[in-house]
Amino acid sequence: MKRIAIFPGSFDPFTKGHQDIVLRGLTLFDEIIVAIGYNSAKSQRYFPIEFMVEKIGETFKNEPRITVQTFSELTAEFAKRNGARYLLRGLRNTTDFEYENSIAQVNRQLNPELESVFLITSPAFAAISSSIIREVHRYNGDVSSLIPYKI
Ligand code: ADP
Repeated sequence: MKRIAIFPGSFDPFTKGHQDIVLRGLTLFDEIIVAIGYNSAKSQRYFPIEFMVEKIGETFKNEPRITVQTFSELTAEFAKRNGARYLLRGLRNTTDFEYENSIAQVNRQLNPELESVFLITSPAFAAISSSIIREVHRYNGDVSSLIPYKI
């Protein structure tokens, strides 16, 4: 049976930190679905969702084991529908841990077959966050070293 993982997030935008988690995840899983969620708490996106689908697709165009999709349902449901038994997430610090811990507990209740797997950030990408990139980009700063594609 294929080991399929979903890597869900807002990806507003997708960063080199996210790319690192996906590429390292490829050593653990046969397929990874990068799943861009319409997060109700963050409904006002900075980068349009279609734009991000295109850019993530471009980033992994030479890796058929990585695909990208959007979803607007419970992550646990999306995983089930796509035959994914693993939920991949990245951890940068204790703040991420507190947040991820509670989400993982809820996801386990919603879909007991879905196992959450966490990868610790690589030091080189630990300081990268989507919110910092949005802030720099908003004021016309250069974000090219923080994202794996051209914008
Ligand atoms: P969400 O809005 O669901 O938190 P994000 O797009 O912000 O989604 O992040 C998706 C996942 O990637 C989360 O697990 C987050 O902790 C992780 N992540 C974000 N930035 C980094 C980074 N620089 N290194 C490793 N993991 C990261």
